[in-house]
Amino acid sequence: MAGEKYEVHRRMYDMLRDRDAPGAKMIVEWLGGIFSAMDDGRPIVYHSFALFSEVIIALDLQPLCCEAWDMMASHVDPQHPIKSIDVAHEAGIPAEMCSYDKAIIGSVMRETMPPPAMIALSATPCQNAYITYQAVAHLTGAPMWVSDIPYDMDEVGAEEYWVEQYKGLIAFLEEQSGKKMDYDRLREVVEESNRCVEYWLELMELQKMKPAPRSGPLWTGTYAGMTSFGLPSSTAAVKATLDKVKEDIAQGKTAVDDEKVRVIWFHFPVGWDTGLIKWMGEMGAVVPYVEMDGYRAEPVDTSTPESMLRGMARRALEVPMVKIAQGATDRYIEDLLYVIGEWKGDCAIIAGHPGCKWITGAHGLISDACRERGIPVLLFDLDLVDHRVTSGDESRARIEQFLNMVLESQK
Ligand code: SF4
Repeated sequence: MAGEKYEVHRRMYDMLRDRDAPGAKMIVEWLGGIFSAMDDGRPIVYHSFALFSEVIIALDLQPLCCEAWDMMASHVDPQHPIKSIDVAHEAGIPAEMCSYDKAIIGSVMRETMPPPAMIALSATPCQNAYITYQAVAHLTGAPMWVSDIPYDMDEVGAEEYWVEQYKGLIAFLEEQSGKKMDYDRLREVVEESNRCVEYWLELMELQKMKPAPRSGPLWTGTYAGMTSFGLPSSTAAVKATLDKVKEDIAQGKTAVDDEKVRVIWFHFPVGWDTGLIKWMGEMGAVVPYVEMDGYRAEPVDTSTPESMLRGMARRALEVPMVKIAQGATDRYIEDLLYVIGEWKGDCAIIAGHPGCKWITGAHGLISDACRERGIPVLLFDLDLVDHRVTSGDESRARIEQFLNMVLESQK
């Protein structure tokens, strides 16, 4: 089997294959699809986490979200992204770039990611991503489509332009694969992703409960969006999480026994410090909202091809990070304040990945906005992929001091 070459991912596949959980089945189906695409010569399409896979699936091509591929590997081999980052550094990729992106470049160079037939990208969320996929296209020789995005979507004509870019993506995939989009098939796929979104939104609503049923990232929705959006396996995975949360609520179970403080974690989770949220829970801190899960989207109107494309194009702008990370700081701050209000946050932690210079550059503005409203906020550099930048001890010391301060102020 061609997939044997990708040892870490093969191990993950083998590890999950016999599990009954729908989340595991979703990942197994995705990995298995990639391995068999390699065996059968079916084209693999690289796409970033900011571009959903529905159109790729509807054309019967195999999606491979590069961020998900690397993130997943770290569950089996925590050193996987570190090895890739080191290879990227050695090749001259600047250390200041996003670690998710450096890992992708390094993984392509190490040949730990199956080669693409084509690359589909939207020009979001930030410059790290654009340049990374350009490097990947250069290294692999695969043709690439980039859906350009207007800086200000409220400008006259901006939405039309974006929808046209989305149509360009389909034309690119059709041309490169020699296939023609079947809009009835696309409707089936989008109706499936609509169901998945419905369950996800319901789950996020439940996280507003006090005390919260879960603390920290919910994962299945994020992996559904990255790997299998529009396939029944992703809908089943999200529904299973929702059902379990509802069951726990009915039995009076909560994320932490004595919820004292609600923390909005307004970034992606720390991939290498999986015990962090539990450790915060020991202090009575619950995290009802992690920005990675913050996917608040409308269902897509599937009545005509035009309405589907328009709806999918709009929905692509609601991907967590895409909606807030395109440069305008006010959008980020507005969303942060909205989330704190809706999910009843007592405070916020923004452990900003050094690659996210749009956050680092806005520390003062974010602090001012929170201070004016009396919201305690902790901002500090913490690489979410590479544990060598800020150690676990160092970040926990900062978080502990901050939470003690918030708890003290509540007395
Ligand atoms: S927004 Fe931050 S985490 Fe996301 S791709 Fe850009 S640098 Fe990386």
